[in-house]
Amino acid sequence: MLSIKNLHASVEDKEILKGLNLEIKAGEVHAIMGPNGAGKSTFASIVAGNENYEVSEGSIELEGEDISELATEERAHKGIFLSFQYPVEIPGVSVTNFMRTAINESRKAKGLEDMPANEMLKLIREKSELLEIDRKFLSRSLNEGFSGGEKKRNEIFQMAMLEPKLAILDETDSGLDIDALRIVANGVNKLKSKDNAVVVITHYQRLLEYIVPDFVHVLMDGKIVKSGGKELALELEEKGYDWIKAELV
Ligand code: ADP
Ligand code: MG
Ligand code: MG
Repeated sequence: MLSIKNLHASVEDKEILKGLNLEIKAGEVHAIMGPNGAGKSTFASIVAGNENYEVSEGSIELEGEDISELATEERAHKGIFLSFQYPVEIPGVSVTNFMRTAINESRKAKGLEDMPANEMLKLIREKSELLEIDRKFLSRSLNEGFSGGEKKRNEIFQMAMLEPKLAILDETDSGLDIDALRIVANGVNKLKSKDNAVVVITHYQRLLEYIVPDFVHVLMDGKIVKSGGKELALELEEKGYDWIKAELV
């Protein structure tokens, strides 16, 4: 699904990723943990195609195709979803209408016609029922006055509608409360399949009690320095990151 080799990237001449390697197969859930400032959000932004970062070395392949030169929208159309990519408030544009437009734009990029209205309605109904999102929510203005939990709900709804191949959820700085945590976890668990993959970036072992990862990676100083199973998250919670630093010298 995703293959990242020796990725080096910088912003304003400061190198942030320093030789990151990561292999993700379809059907897998990966968690990335690590101390503040390690480069986790940078990593997510770069995979999604954020142009503020310069990739100086290495490769990013999605299903065997090098995507490192593609623009954000092209990557999105190829099935990469990054949470919080659309945090804008759009008064007067409902959650549903925003989604309609996003889906039709993505179809257009693939040379397809707009999704027929009845099909769109069916999809919206199906996904909102799956995620227990009520109708009132769907007609609200996008992100306007949304609580933290509602923002999460909207994000997960977007993910469900777009059915990405690779979803990257960067939850690091969002201070998830227990409700938001459940919303994210339920959404991910319901949408997980053998054909897609999920990367959860988190500080909290707690989130990983709900979304059980197949692999846990530690990102430190721009590299993945340790990988393990779900038990590694528990160990990190208990012991912090210093012991890994000590292992590395
Ligand atoms: P994490 O998500 O692991 O906490 P980040 O990826 O947010 O870490 O940041 C890694 C490092 O890169 C930090 O030192 C941060 O200050 C720096 N950085 C990230 N984005 C930018 C940017 N746009 N401009 C300047 N420095 C940045
Ligand atoms: Mg941070
Ligand atoms: Mg971060």
